[in-house]
Amino acid sequence: RSPVITIDGPSASGKGTVAERVARVLGFHFLDSGALYRLTALSAMKAGASLDDEAAVAALAAALPARFRDGRVWLADEDVTDAIRAEAVGEGASKVAALPAVRAALLERQRAYRQAPGLVADGRDMGTVIFPDAPAKVFLTASAEARAERRYKQLIEKGNSASLADLVADMQARDARDTARAVAPLKPAPDALLLDTTHMGIETAVQAVLAHYAS
Ligand code: C5P
Repeated sequence: RSPVITIDGPSASGKGTVAERVARVLGFHFLDSGALYRLTALSAMKAGASLDDEAAVAALAAALPARFRDGRVWLADEDVTDAIRAEAVGEGASKVAALPAVRAALLERQRAYRQAPGLVADGRDMGTVIFPDAPAKVFLTASAEARAERRYKQLIEKGNSASLADLVADMQARDARDTARAVAPLKPAPDALLLDTTHMGIETAVQAVLAHYAS
């Protein structure tokens, strides 16, 4: 079987950036599993489905016309790369992600990304549920303040307005929901390397993941 490196952690811990760079260095495929939950939420919002209608949202997840190409994300013939990053869609993603039937509907789709020469998968349950036999697992953390500051900088750079205090509060609410849910709660796999990036640059984190994979 092709190797998998799983990178899990809370929102804005830097896992997406680190995972993408590690994938590029190794020439591996890359799975942003959070994008699938974001796409599911966006589909439900577009269809006017209630985000707690488990059967309806799971049906949308199972049939998701998602495509990832050249760094862009498509839902059928619509480029939704920016749309899925909206705070409201992130909120919605964390709601639909708590529904067991939605997680089940996305399970095999995620495993199908495991192809030669290898995969780097980022999310919340990559090491615990989706790829429990992955040869290298990493759990990235950073303080809520550090993560909110990173998100704040990203938003300001893109010309959006943002409040740091609101972002810290959003971050803590999202973490609480992701950690407390009954299915696939956010937690490190027992065999994961814990990396606290509060005071660590991206490049150092990338090197630490590569060293862990090589060991
Ligand atoms: O990583 P990202 O912030 O894009 O994920 C959005 C939401 O999707 C998370 O808050 C989480 O609730 C959910 N998610 C999940 N399992 C994953 C990836 C994301 O539950 N593997």
